[in-house]
Amino acid sequence: MSDARYSRQTRVHGIGARGQAALASSTVLVIGVGALGTHSANSLARAGVGTLWLCDRDIVDLSNLQRQTLFEERDAQEGTPKAIAAARALSRANSAIAVEPFVAHCGPDFLASLPQQPDLVLDGTDNFATRYVINDWCKQRGVPWIYAGAVGAEGAAMVVTPDGPCLRCLWPEPPAAHAIGTCETIGVLEPVIAAVTAFQSAEVIKWLAGQRDAVTKGVFTCDVWRGNYSVVRTAQQSDPSCPACAKKSFPALDAREPHAAVLCGRDAVQIDPPRRAALDLDALHGSLQGVVGDLSRTQHYVAFAADGVGIRVFASGRALLFGMHDLLRARALYDRWIGGGA
Ligand SMILES: [Zn+2]
Repeated sequence: MSDARYSRQTRVHGIGARGQAALASSTVLVIGVGALGTHSANSLARAGVGTLWLCDRDIVDLSNLQRQTLFEERDAQEGTPKAIAAARALSRANSAIAVEPFVAHCGPDFLASLPQQPDLVLDGTDNFATRYVINDWCKQRGVPWIYAGAVGAEGAAMVVTPDGPCLRCLWPEPPAAHAIGTCETIGVLEPVIAAVTAFQSAEVIKWLAGQRDAVTKGVFTCDVWRGNYSVVRTAQQSDPSCPACAKKSFPALDAREPHAAVLCGRDAVQIDPPRRAALDLDALHGSLQGVVGDLSRTQHYVAFAADGVGIRVFASGRALLFGMHDLLRARALYDRWIGGGA
């Protein structure tokens, strides 16, 4: 390792040569390489985290470039998988580290297939279904992870340590996407992403450098429109009724994976997620108004066009995505526009 390369970082109190060496020998898994993931992975690659694994199932689109900082116009024109484009950019920024892309859906099967356990997992996802998979897997394995979310001008982040409160302690069940808004329906500003991932990256550096006492306890929240940045202190102990922390039960790891299949001869993919309750078609219809094309509502389904694909969603949660064959991308679009478990 070149001393010069990290000299401004090792000089910071709490890092030093020992902290830098710890970063170099660490592996961080970044799940979701969109806005959050590109920012945090960029920060960690430059900080000298030795191994970065990048997991994303989507391709780069022109509408990503406003905030997904590792991508260029050419990536969007060529429809490059995000994990590949990000790994290429990071390897150019720091050739001394190992960056491995995984073009995959992050479910229990993917996590089980990892060559080894990472030292830390970063949430860069855009949906709560995946966050609960991350939460349950990390809690089960004793791996720290850092939640982050951003929409509009607001963001939040929290460190989940192996022995501290988890996401389920705060929110026992994942909220529905159309109940809280998404980047697609109400937009998102790049500075929110920068603020939230600045918190994430700083916590990663402290944790990996061995400065565990310096890790922030509580939920970081920000509203860059109002100029508010704060940490809401939360209970430092796990909720005694939390299934993951207290009962060692991990529902997201047991959940049946949604069935995705290409429909022969129809140029369409069907996603059939295992839902416990019917989808609220009125709420979905309302949340999509003004943000998608060709929106219509019948007694049985909501139909609309988004990301170049025609989508028809039934109350059972089953959806047909017309004009595509790619199962991974279909699942990404499902989570983005409908949410709730695929
Ligand atoms: Zn918990």
